[in-house]
Amino acid sequence: MTDPDTRERGTTGGWTPVIDRNRCEGKAACVAVCPKNVFAIERLRDDDRAALGLLGKLKAWVHGGQQAYAVRADQCHGCNQCVYACPERAITVTAKS
Ligand code: SF4
Repeated sequence: MTDPDTRERGTTGGWTPVIDRNRCEGKAACVAVCPKNVFAIERLRDDDRAALGLLGKLKAWVHGGQQAYAVRADQCHGCNQCVYACPERAITVTAKS
């Protein structure tokens, strides 16, 4: 039986959150609201830091280099609560291809 708050999955096999590294400030609203415990706040990974724009690098420095990571992305059921909760509008939820 499907959770009542689960959006119907398409033929692609589910949903996955995508975090905009230039927007995330590691405020952990996604950690608090996600019913599937998908997110964790972790040290910004070197390859992600290298890909940041100038403003993103400045924000990362100001916020101590901590950002959200979807460490259990396979658990996402596409409810979009993280999208609405993020104060930086850093998260989108997309259908897996
Ligand atoms: S869409 Fe829902 S289940 Fe998926 S990461 Fe966001 S809050 Fe968690």
